[in-house]
Amino acid sequence: HKYVYDFTEGNKDLKDLLGGKGANLAEMTNLGLPVPPGFTISTEACKAYLSTGAQPDGLAEEIGAHLSALEEAMGKRLGEPADPLLVSVRSGAKFSMPGMMETVLNVGLNDASVEGLAAQAGGNERFAWDSYRRLIQMFGKTVCDVPGEEFEHALDRAKQAKGTTNDLDLDAGDLQALVDAYKTIFTKHTGRDFPQAPREQLELAINAVFESWNADRAVLYRRQERIPADLGTAVNVVAMVFGNLGADSGTGVAFTRDPASGAQGLYGDYLANAQGEDVVAGIRNTVPLQQLEELNKPAYDELLAIMARLEEHYRDLCDIEFTIERGKLWMLQTRVGKRTAAAAFVIAAQLVDEGLIDLDEALHRVNGAQLAQLMFPRFKLGPDLTPVAQGIGASPGAAVGKVVFEGKRAVELADAGEDVILVRRETNPDDLPGMIASRGILTSRGGKTSHAAVVARGMGKTCVCGADALDVNVRERQFTVDGQTVREGDVVSIDGTTGKIYLGEVPVWPSEVVRYFEGSVGPDEADDALVAAVHRIMTHADGQRRLRVRTNADTGPDAARARRFGAEGIGLCRTEHMFLGDRRELVERLILARTDDERKAALADLLPLQRADFVEIFREMDGLPVTVRLIDPPLHEFLPSLEELAVHVAVAHERGEPAAKDEAMLDAVRRMHEQNPMLGLRGVRLGLVIPGLFAMQVRAIVEAAVECARDGGDPKPEIMVPLVGAVQELETVRTEAEKIIAEVTREQAVEVLIGTMIEVPRAALTSGQIAEAAEFFSFGTNDLTQMGWGFSRDDVEGAFFWRYLELGIFGISPFESIDRDGVGRLVRIAAEEGRAARPGLKLGVCGEHGGDPDSVHFFHEVGLDYVSCSPFRVPVARLEAGRAVI
Ligand code: PEP
Ligand code: MG
Repeated sequence: HKYVYDFTEGNKDLKDLLGGKGANLAEMTNLGLPVPPGFTISTEACKAYLSTGAQPDGLAEEIGAHLSALEEAMGKRLGEPADPLLVSVRSGAKFSMPGMMETVLNVGLNDASVEGLAAQAGGNERFAWDSYRRLIQMFGKTVCDVPGEEFEHALDRAKQAKGTTNDLDLDAGDLQALVDAYKTIFTKHTGRDFPQAPREQLELAINAVFESWNADRAVLYRRQERIPADLGTAVNVVAMVFGNLGADSGTGVAFTRDPASGAQGLYGDYLANAQGEDVVAGIRNTVPLQQLEELNKPAYDELLAIMARLEEHYRDLCDIEFTIERGKLWMLQTRVGKRTAAAAFVIAAQLVDEGLIDLDEALHRVNGAQLAQLMFPRFKLGPDLTPVAQGIGASPGAAVGKVVFEGKRAVELADAGEDVILVRRETNPDDLPGMIASRGILTSRGGKTSHAAVVARGMGKTCVCGADALDVNVRERQFTVDGQTVREGDVVSIDGTTGKIYLGEVPVWPSEVVRYFEGSVGPDEADDALVAAVHRIMTHADGQRRLRVRTNADTGPDAARARRFGAEGIGLCRTEHMFLGDRRELVERLILARTDDERKAALADLLPLQRADFVEIFREMDGLPVTVRLIDPPLHEFLPSLEELAVHVAVAHERGEPAAKDEAMLDAVRRMHEQNPMLGLRGVRLGLVIPGLFAMQVRAIVEAAVECARDGGDPKPEIMVPLVGAVQELETVRTEAEKIIAEVTREQAVEVLIGTMIEVPRAALTSGQIAEAAEFFSFGTNDLTQMGWGFSRDDVEGAFFWRYLELGIFGISPFESIDRDGVGRLVRIAAEEGRAARPGLKLGVCGEHGGDPDSVHFFHEVGLDYVSCSPFRVPVARLEAGRAVI
């Protein structure tokens, strides 16, 4: 078994085995870049170590052999007193886990070799003792769990004694004394002396890096980022180069482009006379990388050339770490760098222009989640605006409002027209009404899968959670943060993308990308490169995708907006909104009708109203298909609540007031009450039970279409029957509908399709039969998920999904992203068997999943013709449908 690989043996594609850092060090080595020599101990060795608690057989020998080769190459031996080779021992997993695991530098220093190091460094005693104290500090903390503050306090005391705050003012003598102080700390905590044997230092450091894979913070980070727990880390043993040898040495980090905006140009920080961890630790202030040009022009030029070379080689933004040792540049790390959503689009487009990637690759490198992020309004942040606290960005958006601490208050104030932010320590299902009423939700506890986070995301509501700097006192209706008290009614601004919290009102900027989609800024007018990049990549996605994208819209303005966003028709027009508002009274008349004539009269009054709605929608979507769904929810949803009405009637009786009308209504409400309305009298069942109801709707749809066609329009109505479970249901509705269609279109031909939703599992399983009576299927994945899992869709997310997520029963709510194995299987079966029975059967999806990136890929895979989603998600679905192809 081979566990150890020289840098010359690996390459960038071996991240599983060598970790990201090791694979990229090997890649750079083989590109001929100045990488200090070294070797990588594989993730396999780590996994073996973690499963048994000891290094696997043969590993020590392999390390010994590679160390000898390294010593040979460097012409010196590890820790040799006169001229020591020193090494760094660095972690590096497949996925970057910044700062989560351990690194030990300067391994090989001891009481003897520290003198040799000084001599070799031209008598630079200060450098040698500084390196030694760093080893004891890092080794103590990492390998032996000595509390880090102890070392930091000792360093502070040394600086204080010297009357300085800058560690560069400590001279060789000070640092030598500090080494003694550090050794004492080490012995006090470990009960042994600091190990002097270089090989022992190396072995313990390697084991400590292995073990750091399972450190609490690493475990937590992996859970948050959904990185598998069983990958293990590789360990890189690298010959030390020194950035702390004097003014002509230093260390830095850099990006080949701006990772925030994507702008071309060098971005980085440099710190003279320092070792790697100083930059990250912020011990001293770094200078912008450009200043290196004045300090060391040749090294700067070489660095620029290398960065250009890396970009060309990786064909992407890279970030790097480097060190300059007495004027000579060394590359310590590179990787394809993380970036913001905006930078992802801008860089992808730039790289196409530069000829490094093609448009397919550009499309591959961005995603719908990033696009969605760019569509949220953002805070207009002035230079002096600083957040008062930082939480976890759990559900994106920018929300501003008055602070409230109880759900009830949130509802009251929202009803009075106020914007409110609900602040809680954590939320629970009782907070639901308050959460709905709020612009945003802020909690001091809990992570990305807490109740608040899950529910807020489900509602598309801005949420910052886990802001632990907030001391929330619900009883006093206030929270304190950073010495300030914020009371009910005070205004705060929360950023659900970054997790930042601001006191007072921060102005909000509408998204430039949305303005572009709406057509109010053209791709060339935008003041930055972002809109141009989005335009370019979206155009390519549209050219590539096979899936059509429709929208769920039930009003003219919604339809118009979605069309501007690129919708190619309506996949779901829910007609029930047309039964609300002023029309409620008509609906009540319909429900309360005692005779056929009363019912017919009520329906006749509804007909023109419905027809006018449809005319408006058909006009906005002229030339594109519009799927109108016949009424779905149980009718009692349109009646007053049972409790309120009962109280009302009781009070009237008490007072001896007449209440005949209310009594009749109460009777009806009682009669229609259902324990399980979601599984009760709704959808096609209503149509079969209430004579004339569906007929009225069908007539309204077809008459509206005829009216539009007469006016020269091109309406494409599709009538959809909800909640069908058996073909007989559909056939009954179809027979009646066909008669009406024939009658209404006698003088003005309009093609009208009749199809069904597939949202009851039985419909999916008998889709071959159902297809005989349907010209199209539209998957109602909301109900299909509800009935497939047996999860009440209005209750479970707030009630217990947080626990399911915590336990990993699923990684994301199945109402948010399609459950491929279960509900997805029903979709697959229905698509296959439906098409087998009726070749050319049109297939779409109109549940919430139609706008979810992952689900869009699934629907592409199973061969649907279109997805339909809310207007705002249409661009996301277009992008992902394009990505699904490449
Ligand atoms: C569905 O069930 O997926 C669907 C689109 O219908 P509704 O959400 O209106 O029940
Ligand atoms: Mg449904």
